[in-house]
Amino acid sequence: MTQRRQQLAANLAVVRERIATACAGVGRRPESVTLVVVTKFFPASDVRLLADLGVEHVGENRHQEAEAKAAECADLSLTWHFIGTLQSNKAAAVARYSDVVESVDRAKVLRGLERGADERGHPLDCLVQVSLDDAPGRAGAAVADVLPLAEQVLATPGLALRGVMAVAPLGRPPLPAFERLAGVAADVRSLDPAATWLSAGMSGDLEQAIQCGATHVRIGSAVLGPRPPIK
Ligand SMILES: *Cc1c(COP(=O)(O)O)cnc(C)c1O
Repeated sequence: MTQRRQQLAANLAVVRERIATACAGVGRRPESVTLVVVTKFFPASDVRLLADLGVEHVGENRHQEAEAKAAECADLSLTWHFIGTLQSNKAAAVARYSDVVESVDRAKVLRGLERGADERGHPLDCLVQVSLDDAPGRAGAAVADVLPLAEQVLATPGLALRGVMAVAPLGRPPLPAFERLAGVAADVRSLDPAATWLSAGMSGDLEQAIQCGATHVRIGSAVLGPRPPIK
C-alpha cells in the first residue's frame, strides 16, 4: 500500500467509527447516514484511492475543478455531489457532471439546472441550501425563503427535490442551528415525502448533525487532511 492510501484508509476508518458511535448514541443505524467525502483541493488520484477504499459519494465545491476531476474519474462509479456556490451561468454545466446538487439557493439557478439535467437525460437530485447564519452574504436561502424555493424545484421538470443542506453558522454552537435545520427539513418533507435528505455535518460537527437527523455528512479534512493553500 502506498503511504497516501494507508493514510486515507486510516482516516476513513476513524470517520466511519465516529459516524457509528454518533448513530449508536441516538439509536440510529449507521447505514442511515451517507458519507460524502469532500475532495476539493485534492487531486483525482486521491478520488481514485478513495473509490478503491469503498467511498461511493464525493463532494466538490468549485465548478472548474469539479468538472475536470469528474471527467478524469469518469470510469469510476461514484456519485458526485456539488456543494459549492452556484453561478446561474454555470448551473447547466454543473448539472451535466453532478448527480446531486446540494447548494440550490435561489430560483435563478433552476433553469440552468433543468437544461443540464435534460442534456444528461435523467433527473437531477437537488437539495435546497439553507442559511443558518441570518447574515446576508453567506451561502444559502434564508429560512423564510426555503419552502417557496422548494416548491419551485418541485415544479421544475428534470429536478428531483430530495431535501435540504446547510453548513453550521460561524462562531456559534452547531447543535441549536442543526435543530432548527431539522425543523426546516420536516417542513420541506411535508411538501413531498420523497424529500427525506438532510445534509449537515462536516469534520468538526458530524456528531451534532447526526444527533439532529442528518442523512448525509460532508467530510473533507478529517479524511484528506488539511487543505493545501489556495493557489
Ligand atoms: C469544504 C466543505 C465541507 C467539508 O469541510 P471539512 O471541515 O473539511 O470537513 C463540507 N461542506 C461544504 C459546503 C464545504 O464547502
